[in-house]
Amino acid sequence: MDAAGGDAVTTPFLRSAAYIAAIPNSGHMPRTSNPWPPITKTLRKPHELARAGLIAPGNIAVLERVAAQYAVAITPAMAELIDPDDPADPIARQFLPQAVELDMQPDEHADPVGDHTHSPVEGIVHRYPDRVLLKVTHTCAVYCRFCFRREMVGPQGLKTLAPKALDAALAYIAGRPEIWEVIITGGDPLVLSPRRLRGLMDRLVAIDHVKVVRFHTRIPTVAPETVTDELVAALKSPTQAVYVALHANHARELTPAARAACARIVDAGLPMLGQTVLLRGVNDDPDSLQALMRALVETRIKPYYLHQGDFAPGTGHLRTTIAEGQALMRTLRGDVSGLCQPTYVLDIPEGHGKVPIGPSYLESDGGDVCVESPWGTRHAYPPKPSAAAAESGDD
Ligand code: SF4
Repeated sequence: MDAAGGDAVTTPFLRSAAYIAAIPNSGHMPRTSNPWPPITKTLRKPHELARAGLIAPGNIAVLERVAAQYAVAITPAMAELIDPDDPADPIARQFLPQAVELDMQPDEHADPVGDHTHSPVEGIVHRYPDRVLLKVTHTCAVYCRFCFRREMVGPQGLKTLAPKALDAALAYIAGRPEIWEVIITGGDPLVLSPRRLRGLMDRLVAIDHVKVVRFHTRIPTVAPETVTDELVAALKSPTQAVYVALHANHARELTPAARAACARIVDAGLPMLGQTVLLRGVNDDPDSLQALMRALVETRIKPYYLHQGDFAPGTGHLRTTIAEGQALMRTLRGDVSGLCQPTYVLDIPEGHGKVPIGPSYLESDGGDVCVESPWGTRHAYPPKPSAAAAESGDD
């Protein structure tokens, strides 16, 4: 299943429990501020969550229904971050199942961004001319309650690509010279063993027209101890630019261990990007969003995308409106460094592509342009000559 065990034991390419155990200092800091015992393994079942003090025992029955539909996994690193006494804990909100997930809204969809529509061969999503997604595994170390691929990931979801399917996916890439970038995603590709990742990279290196490889992952925050030098070395390419995009939604995820894991990646010469999902009750207030963007930049991760929540089933309680997102983006623009500005984007439902959704600072009636400052003042562009300059004839 993930870096901590489960399917990892039975699937040869995933990192085994023995592999993880052999990593020096792979343990985590136990919770010291509450009476619950330290969490030493990934929690997957409601009764395990109750035993760890993360849900009320009375909720086990209904959450078993949720878990039967959408995979549950919380790594020790994330479980230890949750304050069981805080009903609004932003980490809990991302990973702990809730009964409301059983309420699917009419506008929600099992494949909200149209992966299947744009999948010419198993494992490939080809939506834009110059790049493809390569989905090598549908396993993750954690299962996020808002995931737009929640119907595809986890034990009930799609399987890790079999060798023949991977051959076909790589042949598809090799046969199309217009593919400049390969985005390795899933699932979370960094649950794969360094040996499997190295093998994959070696095959991509052999495709001359692929100049950029990008990994999308949550591993550096949710299982930082597994970002070993061996793993980082496996991601490198002698000929291609390799980027690692970290998915993080709250500043608390950037623990010292997570920052150290990211430093191992960046110090190895792999630039990092940040991608964040705008989530109600997690990061939909200016302080939380600004703290996250600053934490990413301090960790040498350039914020890249802030995603509007997709219409994934049972996720309405976590979705904001676009107007709320635009207002938050205005506070970012006014208050924090340009380095901390992601692009706020919407994946248009049914796979019509990803577009920036503002806010816009320009208004035009076809002639004059009015531009709004980060603080809401409005200004003509080009600027009107001042009265004094007009009288003196200055130009
Ligand atoms: S958001 Fe990423 S890490 Fe989370 S469940 Fe979905 S694919 Fe896995």
